[in-house]
Amino acid sequence: MSMLARENSDLVEVEALRLLRLLMHVDCSPGRKWNMDTCREIAPLTLEINRLKKARNAVILTHSYVEPEIIYGVGDFKGDSYYLSKKARDAKADVIVFAGAVFMAETAKLLSPGAQVVVPDRQSGCTLADSISGAELRRLKATYPDAVVVCYINCTAEVKAESDICVTSANVFDIVAGLTEKQVLFVPDRLMADNLRTDLVRRGVDKEIISSDGTCIVHEEFTATQIAEARKLFPGARVVAHPECRAEIAQLADYVGSTGAMMDYVRSTNAPYYLMLTECGLVSRLAVEDPEKNFIGGCRLCPYMKLNSLEKIRDALLNPRTDQIVTLEEELAGRATRCIDRMFELAA
Ligand code: SF4
Repeated sequence: MSMLARENSDLVEVEALRLLRLLMHVDCSPGRKWNMDTCREIAPLTLEINRLKKARNAVILTHSYVEPEIIYGVGDFKGDSYYLSKKARDAKADVIVFAGAVFMAETAKLLSPGAQVVVPDRQSGCTLADSISGAELRRLKATYPDAVVVCYINCTAEVKAESDICVTSANVFDIVAGLTEKQVLFVPDRLMADNLRTDLVRRGVDKEIISSDGTCIVHEEFTATQIAEARKLFPGARVVAHPECRAEIAQLADYVGSTGAMMDYVRSTNAPYYLMLTECGLVSRLAVEDPEKNFIGGCRLCPYMKLNSLEKIRDALLNPRTDQIVTLEEELAGRATRCIDRMFELAA
């Protein structure tokens, strides 16, 4: 073996060990078991991506729902939409790779207009974001001309451009409760709107929430039966849900919060078991970062988030195809950015 080949093989071995230390705790990657062999398989690719990242002054933002080898292998920042949107805003990078859903990459482009923003897979959509177009929102606005328009961040830039204020699952309840307007047109998540109504009643805040009809393909699927069975089989289990779940699920859960808040809740409590009613990627993150905790299966996979892969990230960094590059029309981007800036002001 030549000196160069030996050096490369040593680098791969070190990288495989680094990956193994992190990924060995993950047990819900579909069809994949993390051991030294599987880590050796991906190590050359993570090394290549990390080299490309430096060469192109790029950052890789990874949503908690993408595969753990992306988050821990090549990601610079990991988290939920709100956290990552702040990282996109503050990034001083020439290139931002957004491993998540396309609407998130659009948000990154709005907040870092000077950077080239690329997505690994253009098909990584979202049932919420795809549930309403800008034209449909304009029609709703005409029906409710006095309503303030609040959009959940899981929507397209076109819908953000038609909205007054953007919110995330981390700040939706506080921001809407603090608005002066009585009538709120909330898009695109019908189930989050239901949870919002319940929260406003609990706070004694009088508002009329009108919503469009979108749902998240992952969070709408959880059932009360699943919770009842988990509580029976695992006494003392805590049920932790995302506000994209149905209202009856939110009412039965011990805790409801954004992806980041769900993680904080698990880290700060000490239950014998946790049932996480969300995407499996979050459970993988918790398994890596808090390996002492026990999680009951029951999470679900988002088919869109799982379209992201190391190979596609490498290609997007090396020589992005046109369909991987996010572009937004200037006037629309200006309007969409205003609604996100409003969120940062109100959240502060
Ligand atoms: S988990 Fe739901 S909200 Fe998130 S990207 Fe998938 S479909 Fe959209």
